[in-house]
Amino acid sequence: MSEYTGIITENQNMTKDVYILRILLDNELGHRAGQFVNIEADIDDEKRIKAYSIASPCNQKKSIELCIKKIPGGKMSNYLYNLPIGSKLKITGPYGLFVVEDCKNNCIFVATGTGIAGIKPIIQDLLSRNCRKNIMLVYGVRKEEDIYYKHVFETLAKQYPNFSFVTTLSRPRTEWKGMKGYVQDWIKNNVKYTNQDVYVCGLPDMVEGVASVCKGLGFTDSHIHTEKYV
Ligand SMILES: Cc1cc2nc3c(=O)[nH]c(=O)nc-3n(C[C@H](O)[C@H](O)[C@H](O)COP(=O)(O)OP(=O)(O)OC[C@H]3O[C@@H](n4cnc5c(N)ncnc54)[C@H](O)[C@@H]3O)c2cc1C
Repeated sequence: MSEYTGIITENQNMTKDVYILRILLDNELGHRAGQFVNIEADIDDEKRIKAYSIASPCNQKKSIELCIKKIPGGKMSNYLYNLPIGSKLKITGPYGLFVVEDCKNNCIFVATGTGIAGIKPIIQDLLSRNCRKNIMLVYGVRKEEDIYYKHVFETLAKQYPNFSFVTTLSRPRTEWKGMKGYVQDWIKNNVKYTNQDVYVCGLPDMVEGVASVCKGLGFTDSHIHTEKYV
């Protein structure tokens, strides 16, 4: 773990409540796909530290991307959103054990909302390292416009025959023709084999729900890997 000074180089709205923050670090971050950084800031005269998954591919070591949801009333998520380009940030990291050593088994990745930030770089890393196992992403969001990084996953699915993804919407509009419902239900109704690894990232209720469904299907604990955005 090291300390870095980051400079905000870009702040891009992804949807009405999610934005991408690009940060240039003063040194290379020797991180692995799936890890996160802590951002430390004085907000309203109080020191606050919050964790954010590194959403950019892990071969980008000096310029990182975070995918952040603006939480109503949330101190850090709104503070970062309102900082001007060029602002300096105190960053520590990398942290976290939500990484994939090697792909021995087929993998199912499950994310909801900004949980995709912890999953996207792992999928990109595995595919770029020529992992031959089947890699599936089950991505749950509320509405179609909340499917962050859609183009990235569409491109990967065209490029790599062993990668596929499904998006399931919990609050679809009537014209939505794709999957509907929660990721937990999708897993329960569609996953047939338990000799695969499941990686789940997002809010605690969803992560615990998916883990519980997987256990009910017969997955052993060693096949279930989780990252909770507590
Ligand atoms: C390992 C790890 C990685 C994370 N990665 C990301 C990431 O990539 N992107 C991201 O957006 N967040 C991520 N988080 C969550 C992030 O660290 C903050 O908790 C989040 O941004 C809210 O902080 P805040 O200071 O804005 O809200 P606070 O001021 O702490 O909270 C304000 C209120 O909102 C509630 N609240 C807090 N978080 C949420 C939430 N996510 N949804 C709904 N209500 C909430 C709180 O209970 C509180 O009532 C991650 C967390 C962990 C532990």
